[in-house]
Amino acid sequence: MNIVVLCKQVPDTESRIKLKGDGSGFDMEGIKWILNPYDEYAVEEALKIKEAGKAEKVTVVGLGPDRIVEALRTALAMGADEAVHVKTGDDYGDNLAVAKALAAAVKDLNPGLVLTGRQAIDTDMGAVQSMVAELLGCGQVNVVSKIEVDGGKFKAWRDIEGGAKQVVEAQAPVVMSANKGLNEPRYASLPGIMKAKRKPVAVKEPAAAVTKAKLTACSLPEERKAGKVFQGVESVPEVVKLLRTEAKVI
Ligand SMILES: Cc1cc2nc3c(=O)[nH]c(=O)nc-3n(C[C@H](O)[C@H](O)[C@H](O)COP(=O)(O)OP(=O)(O)OC[C@H]3O[C@@H](n4cnc5c(N)ncnc54)[C@H](O)[C@@H]3O)c2cc1C
Repeated sequence: MNIVVLCKQVPDTESRIKLKGDGSGFDMEGIKWILNPYDEYAVEEALKIKEAGKAEKVTVVGLGPDRIVEALRTALAMGADEAVHVKTGDDYGDNLAVAKALAAAVKDLNPGLVLTGRQAIDTDMGAVQSMVAELLGCGQVNVVSKIEVDGGKFKAWRDIEGGAKQVVEAQAPVVMSANKGLNEPRYASLPGIMKAKRKPVAVKEPAAAVTKAKLTACSLPEERKAGKVFQGVESVPEVVKLLRTEAKVI
């Protein structure tokens, strides 16, 4: 069985996001990029399944401009065998266009299991994995925190409301999205990073995107007002008054 992991490159959570001058999108200048943390869980799980002798090959697939190869190399350094870069410009298309291009690349790899993150931490759509499953005509189990593999059969545990668990059985091929807690992703070792430089990254040109939903504007939350600093016990009555009249919390 081959496993494919969808890996998206996203801005580091520490990044300070700025808007483009015309508000048409975010200004990505100077951003530090990382592999989507939920996709790290997916990569780790694929590697564990392979190391347990239940899969032969782990291929990571990403869509985006040239910079995303860095995220694919991170997954290769963790231990994935090979990568596919679906090469687009900075602007490509909406969820469906992205999912169609990814599904076409995944189909060629004929996997028994496709692992993804539960969501990308930048745009938080949580849409791509379901669309890819639908386009491939296979089952899907979202937000999983444990997976068991037995030949072409899978058992997955999902966390649901109130700490309850659901157990879902599925047959290959299946798409599963990883939740936090599925595992503890490994750090890439120095030999892993060196080896990753020599691992193959195939480049694919996607079909032209047909975009049905268009992003029209972006905005940032209003700047928070500066806080007030009080000193000395004599300011307590003033603080209590403001908590009542301004903050309205007491
Ligand atoms: C290069 C590029 C150009 C874009 N251009 C436009 C545009 O013109 N108009 C517009 O409206 N939107 C555009 N988008 C946004 C795009 O619609 C969303 O990024 C995409 O649908 C994924 O949604 P999400 O990021 O919320 O991921 P989710 O749906 O939250 O992601 C879930 C999981 O799917 C997988 N996944 C998602 N995206 C990728 C990816 N690119 N590569 C590999 N795995 C992935 C990951 O495993 C991820 O954990 C663009 C995105 C990219 C990467």
